[in-house]
Amino acid sequence: MRRRGKKGAGLQPAPASTVGRQLQAVPEGALGAVKTTSHEVVFLVDVPPEVIQREKEKARVLRRSQWWQRRLARGECYYCHCKVPPQELTMDHIVPLARGGQSTRGNVAPACKSCNSRKKYLLPMEWDDYLRRLTSAISSRAADAAAAEQDKDDEGMQRV
Ligand SMILES: [Zn+2]
Repeated sequence: MRRRGKKGAGLQPAPASTVGRQLQAVPEGALGAVKTTSHEVVFLVDVPPEVIQREKEKARVLRRSQWWQRRLARGECYYCHCKVPPQELTMDHIVPLARGGQSTRGNVAPACKSCNSRKKYLLPMEWDDYLRRLTSAISSRAADAAAAEQDKDDEGMQRV
């Protein structure tokens, strides 16, 4: 009679406990990034609603701070670097609250409406792609500007 007492034992699927252990391994306040064996980073953190509420309240306080007002006054989107009137910038959580991000200075940034709505509807991977495209567009624009500047110099030299 060895089965006594352990009713249902052995029916638990092993993978579930593995996931559980990974979740527990994420320290409090971490971004919730968990590396899987396939070198992908996935977000497994299930953020309780009361934590989201607390972080939203912290964001409200942060929005009223001098620090945030100064950031808005620069009138620039953190992601695409476009010039935007301060009143059209929104506070964006770089790591969303739902993924374990917090309302700290390091995790909030002014975003234009276009970037903000993209970030909402894109999957994290698609958003990363978008950022990569932005970065390469910005650096090639900078290269173009440098080249144009160079042309002007050449022209000037020819005229002299
Ligand atoms: Zn933007």
